[in-house]
Amino acid sequence: METILVLTHVDETGTALSKASLEAVTAGVELARQLSATLTIGILGLASVNAAAAASAVAATGARLLAVTNEAFAQPRYATDAAGCEALCRATQASIVLAPGSSRFVRVAAGVAHRLGGFIDTHITSLSSNDSVDATRWFYRQRVDATISRDARPWFLLLDAGTHAAYAAEPGTAQVEAVDVTLPATRTTVEGLRSPMRDAQTIRPDARLLFVAGAGWTKKQPDGQIHVAEAGELILAFLRLSGASLGSSKSLADQKAEGPGEEQSVLPFLTHMNQVGQTGSTPRHAKGLSTCCHGEEPHVVGWRFIAERRAISLDPNCGWTRGKADVVYVADAFQVMAKVNALLESRIS
Ligand SMILES: Cc1cc2nc3c(=O)[nH]c(=O)nc-3n(C[C@H](O)[C@H](O)[C@H](O)COP(=O)(O)OP(=O)(O)OC[C@H]3O[C@@H](n4cnc5c(N)ncnc54)[C@H](O)[C@@H]3O)c2cc1C
Repeated sequence: METILVLTHVDETGTALSKASLEAVTAGVELARQLSATLTIGILGLASVNAAAAASAVAATGARLLAVTNEAFAQPRYATDAAGCEALCRATQASIVLAPGSSRFVRVAAGVAHRLGGFIDTHITSLSSNDSVDATRWFYRQRVDATISRDARPWFLLLDAGTHAAYAAEPGTAQVEAVDVTLPATRTTVEGLRSPMRDAQTIRPDARLLFVAGAGWTKKQPDGQIHVAEAGELILAFLRLSGASLGSSKSLADQKAEGPGEEQSVLPFLTHMNQVGQTGSTPRHAKGLSTCCHGEEPHVVGWRFIAERRAISLDPNCGWTRGKADVVYVADAFQVMAKVNALLESRIS
């Protein structure tokens, strides 16, 4: 009989579980139901905050709730996070450990699995059970969909964000059992966080919309001129007004400003981190809007997890019109985005 532990951690407020943790809770609840297994939720939290406050959001699962609490968990740090997770795993003796693939847990999960003599698989997208527990994940840039099962226990599974709905139920009264954790001596002191300005932070995995900019933004336009500065303003204004995440085609991300010593990309807020596609990322968003991009297969393969796709292209024969988008506007993206931004501005003011 399997026993399932879902490892979770609080978000930056310190009072609630992170969204990725709540997604892992959903996966745990579903798997426990399929296996008729016992479910425990382990929480990494702060001592100054009543762990029951964070746990109340998952009280309706009926799972056993355990917490390790200490101010040391206010900041992600390998030594303390690994010790907290290890303590939760040892307290439950779980055979299956699910955890969100957050940067915090990706860093420690393999080490914790090793301490427990277990095995780990990462980037899991779904779980199911017949006779055995099956986990799926993609290989080779989302081209090969593999199903994995293992006899070895404990089996740690890190779940990709966005693959499960975040657990949502009426908050209930949570009975949280405290688990003792012996924290190791730490060498790393977290002095604070430095975040980029909102305009500089263009990759937003939680956004509903992915806005993709293609190389057309930097090409000669019907007036025979290029309008890169205007393109940059239109794109940044749209990101600011809509909260969308910014993706790029490879052709645009590859462009560099001309001139000796010019290492900056033509649109300075773009890097290869924005690139979507075969040699880029495969983000998950409810909607996507492609602009000035031709929609070639190596780019569109990165749109696999975009549910509703729209494109604005001057070319009526572009890849998007050939069945790769739900809606294509054959139009000038400069004009369309200026109008869209004006409409968004008028809504806000
Ligand atoms: C091995 C390999 C891997 C690759 N990996 C990737 C990848 O990961 N991601 C990726 O993106 N590409 C990748 N590519 C490249 C890919 O094949 C294309 O070359 C690239 O996606 C083209 O980028 P683009 O559509 O932005 O540019 P272009 O092909 O130059 O298209 C620009 C488009 O903008 C339109 N346009 C111009 N002005 C306007 C306007 N005012 N309004 C509206 N539309 C306008 C034009 O009509 C044109 O359709 C890869 C290629 C190879 C060989």
